[in-house]
Amino acid sequence: MSPLARRQPTVAAVMGTRPEIIKLAPVVHELTGRGARVRTLLTGQHYDPVLAGDVVDAFGLTDVAPPAAPVGGLARAEQVAAMISGLAGQLRELAPDAVLVQGDTNSASAGAQAAHYLGLPVVHVEAGLRSHDRAMPEEVNRLVIGALADLHCAPTPESAANLLVAGTDPATVHVTGNPVVEATLASLERPHRAAAVLRSVHLSGMPFVLATVHRPENTDDPAALAALLRALDLLPAPVLFPAHPRTTARIAAAGLTVPRSLRVVEPLDHATFLALAAQAQLVVSDSGGLQEEVTVLGRPMVVVRTSTERPESVSAGFCRLARPAGVPAAAAELLDPEHLAALARRPSPYGDGSASRRIADLVLGLAAPRRGPLGAGRASGVPARA
Ligand code: UDP
Repeated sequence: MSPLARRQPTVAAVMGTRPEIIKLAPVVHELTGRGARVRTLLTGQHYDPVLAGDVVDAFGLTDVAPPAAPVGGLARAEQVAAMISGLAGQLRELAPDAVLVQGDTNSASAGAQAAHYLGLPVVHVEAGLRSHDRAMPEEVNRLVIGALADLHCAPTPESAANLLVAGTDPATVHVTGNPVVEATLASLERPHRAAAVLRSVHLSGMPFVLATVHRPENTDDPAALAALLRALDLLPAPVLFPAHPRTTARIAAAGLTVPRSLRVVEPLDHATFLALAAQAQLVVSDSGGLQEEVTVLGRPMVVVRTSTERPESVSAGFCRLARPAGVPAAAAELLDPEHLAALARRPSPYGDGSASRRIADLVLGLAAPRRGPLGAGRASGVPARA
């Protein structure tokens, strides 16, 4: 074996928010299990411990660099700029063989930009999703990352097709599935405190709905938030509502009263949250990741949005889009007993739980043979591909 082949591959994984940590953790473990060094670079986009630090610990990530600079609460332009600058310094020092980014957050966009400007290969996990709604900041992040990535790990054939239609080099597009499937299955196996949560809000043994909201279009307009709370109150079962810190703040700022049928709790750890989602009669949320997780759990979900970048969940029958006032009607359709029985048997469109292995294969293929040290053949700081 040549010294080159024996060298330990080094990978940087950029993570800024709860869903990125949840979905990249299985890839990190797969890579480290196969001898790579993976350093997690936190951007600090989610700075509340229940959304970031606690999740990092729960998913067993150990080689973790703290955020280079505080970015929480900054406006989008300043936040992305600060993250690019911080990540560039960390990446220059680490000189990894590949940089992993996941999804569509400002952190993922900043990670892809910092890596690309330094000439480092960018691997995009969950590539090719499109809502075709440029009013969503996440859609613009997806487009930016799609333009910069060297390897696109598309979860489904539909997401791969979005990239090919946009002119992406087919040799760089791979249908891998989404690691959310194995993240969900792994979380379900771990001990959890779901029963204690239900007891604490007097819902033990009762049918209940699990609801979360955090997207600005639902939380930042007091009228929309009030309409959503009213709609949740009209559902056929009480609602367990793990409140995102942003939502808690907006409810208080708008002076809204939470209906008695809503049982508000703090955000929950992933294992507990998924155990509750698996038991819930129905899930109501504007979350992106949850639209995938319900397909693994076989549960129905009303998506409180006007568009989705995950149409596979809708066409497979798990999800239905609704505006806040339409939530009760969408819920009634999903709760049809025959529909529910069919969902419980239907496979997830996001893969069979092998995405992390496939992604690790691709990353390790990229890492060997090494493309040359960072900045080789060009002046330090000069963009490699500009
Ligand atoms: N989640 C969690 N605890 C909660 C609520 C959600 O662990 O109390 C998980 C959920 O299972 C999913 C992820 O957080 O994996 C979704 O994150 P979020 O809704 O913040 O972002 P999005 O999916 O919209 O990007």
